[in-house]
Amino acid sequence: METKYSVFVCESCTLSFSTTAGTDVIDITRPVAEKVAESGIAEGQALVFTPGSTAALTTIEYESGVVRDLIEAIERIAPKDMDYRHDARWGDGNGYAHVRSALLGPSLTVPITNGRLALGTWQQIVLIDFDNRPRKRQVVVQVSGLKSR
Ligand code: ZN
Repeated sequence: METKYSVFVCESCTLSFSTTAGTDVIDITRPVAEKVAESGIAEGQALVFTPGSTAALTTIEYESGVVRDLIEAIERIAPKDMDYRHDARWGDGNGYAHVRSALLGPSLTVPITNGRLALGTWQQIVLIDFDNRPRKRQVVVQVSGLKSR
């Protein structure tokens, strides 16, 4: 029987981003949306994941005011200038970054509906790097779902 969506597709790719030291917040919505468009998936999911224990992914309205508000809120939750057991043990000075990363989490799943990410108009996907040195970050995008034949 012929159905509207009949081919299941699952594709992965890795995006790379250069970050600066401190809490760097990067809007990665466009490259993720491009992967969704290229896949041709009509109904499914985009799983976005960053390997590493000092970065995180979330969504936010990407405007400088609220981005600053988020950075300051995170600073209040896990302040940089505090004693961390991780730093005493490893001496790399980024205990705060590991704690922040664990609290926000490394991944997001965004539904794909009608061939597009089901994000709100003022909702962008952001990669946040908390580490205390510039990094080259990888973001794995895995799209899966049903494609029109
Ligand atoms: Zn560390």
